[in-house]
Amino acid sequence: MKALEEKILSEAEVLPGDVLKVGSFLNQQIDTVILKQMAEEVKRLFAGEKVDKVLTVEASGIAFATAVALELKVPMVFAKKHASANVSGEQYSAPVYSFTHKKTYEIAVSKAYLSAGERVLIADDFLANGNALKGLISIVKEAGGIVAGCCTEIEKGFQGGGDALRAEGYKVESLAIVESMENGILKFRP
Ligand code: 5GP
Repeated sequence: MKALEEKILSEAEVLPGDVLKVGSFLNQQIDTVILKQMAEEVKRLFAGEKVDKVLTVEASGIAFATAVALELKVPMVFAKKHASANVSGEQYSAPVYSFTHKKTYEIAVSKAYLSAGERVLIADDFLANGNALKGLISIVKEAGGIVAGCCTEIEKGFQGGGDALRAEGYKVESLAIVESMENGILKFRP
């Protein structure tokens, strides 16, 4: 998406460890105009798919997932991190290694909010190694749902997570794919 690429070029900062900082328009302060444009683009990209729910993980995926769900007129569900003890088996859960925090979280969704047979579109802000999306896919499968596809705002293509999921047969759409950011110079996948 051209407008997103331009915004990244003008405002994103490349931090050490292959982290792209987009706090000024995607993560902490949110540019609602571009958020709406991104959600409209996801609606267009998934026009052929039936979607019953949008699923993300707290916290940074919530704004994008909500905007997408608003466009599709379906509910948005987010997985919580730091799952409370699942002794009574009331949650679907999966371990996810966090790229930004360098530790493994248990992410969890109450069984009340995902049902067998539902077609779920998974959304997140970033796609790097693909661990967050894989954890969410595992939760949808545990619930007996169907993954309608995955969408992210920014994919760092050089980290390989998106292409690995595409090779597994998932429809993965990212609104901007950063192919490299060596020496702070950003290049996008055409
Ligand atoms: P993955 O699980 O695909 O390795 O990483 C995706 C998750 O890590 C996303 O939920 C996102 O919050 C975080 N993340 C990964 N790379 C970046 C990055 O470059 N910048 C920011 N702000 N978050 C990232």
